[in-house]
Amino acid sequence: MKLSPKQFFTARLLEWNRQHNTRSMPWKGIRDPYRIWLSEIILQQTRVEQGLPYYERFIAHYPTVRDLAAAPDEAVFRLWQGLGYYARCKNMLAAARQIVQTFDGRFPDTYEQIQSLKGIGPYTAAAVASFAFNSPHAVLDGNVFRVLARYFGIDTPTDSTGGKKQFAALAQELLPPEQSAIYNQSIMDFGAVVCKPQQPSCGQCLLAPACVALQQQTVARLPVKSKKLVIRKRYFYYIVLEHQDQVFIRKRTGNDIWQNLHEFILLEMPAPVTASELLASPELRGVMNGTPYTMQGASPTFKQQLTHQTIHSQFLLLAATRKPAIKDYMAVPRTRLNSYAFPKTITDFLQNKSLELF
Ligand code: SF4
Repeated sequence: MKLSPKQFFTARLLEWNRQHNTRSMPWKGIRDPYRIWLSEIILQQTRVEQGLPYYERFIAHYPTVRDLAAAPDEAVFRLWQGLGYYARCKNMLAAARQIVQTFDGRFPDTYEQIQSLKGIGPYTAAAVASFAFNSPHAVLDGNVFRVLARYFGIDTPTDSTGGKKQFAALAQELLPPEQSAIYNQSIMDFGAVVCKPQQPSCGQCLLAPACVALQQQTVARLPVKSKKLVIRKRYFYYIVLEHQDQVFIRKRTGNDIWQNLHEFILLEMPAPVTASELLASPELRGVMNGTPYTMQGASPTFKQQLTHQTIHSQFLLLAATRKPAIKDYMAVPRTRLNSYAFPKTITDFLQNKSLELF
């Protein structure tokens, strides 16, 4: 019997998985929803190689969702340090507590309940529901969009409302309901290993005989996105203000990057400035509030790339000659700095030791 292109797709994908089940990771093939969820949260916007040690550390510190829910915020943020996108960590902790409070510590087992957890969207809900409970929900991530767009030759933008609906319906139609866990894993792995963003392995691809993009020579053009990513440049100048053995830091709040992480005294400028321009600026005078100081040194510039922003940071070490009163910042002993969670750029600065802070 001749298979339709859709039947061919699903059959070949499962066959590929049987032959090439090589992306072996500790969270693969397991049924524990807590571990699956943890891996999915850690791997959002993070490469597998980078996320793996974090996953292992989290499992070692918090083997169950109850352990995670009971952990102090600061300890969890410190364990997360370096992964970025701290909203994920905050939501993860909130979801763990929600599971304990609302579901009596038992991980919910339906797609709807899983999606009701903080920080869980349709993709993560489908991943946990299918991997842990074999529920028939198709995952839709970047890999899946790409494979479907190319194989079926779809040029509807994947980030448009219509595109999302079209791809979601197609993905769901292709899913064999009895084998949702294995199918979802197969299509994501296939996108990561064979139908890669750059230089896909069309020559060795089991789907090639029916791949529309290959036949129409549109592989490099698909998938299509409507919006171009706009990257904003930001210039952070951190004043590392010392007085005796103390430095001034604060916890970041508000609706900006790095929520709940700590930082030194921040002056954000609209464009790069030199250290002497900064020292003469009204912004610095405002924050120092009349505190006399001497300048001890300036660090090189550190760069941190986020999805929508590039952060350039420079650190100026100032020694206050009398006890400063800096609004909104707290004085902490230098030796206790390592008990606070900082964004990656500040951790890089502290490890770099370009200024004699210790
Ligand atoms: S033939 Fe190439 S473009 Fe088509 S599914 Fe296979 S790897 Fe992707």
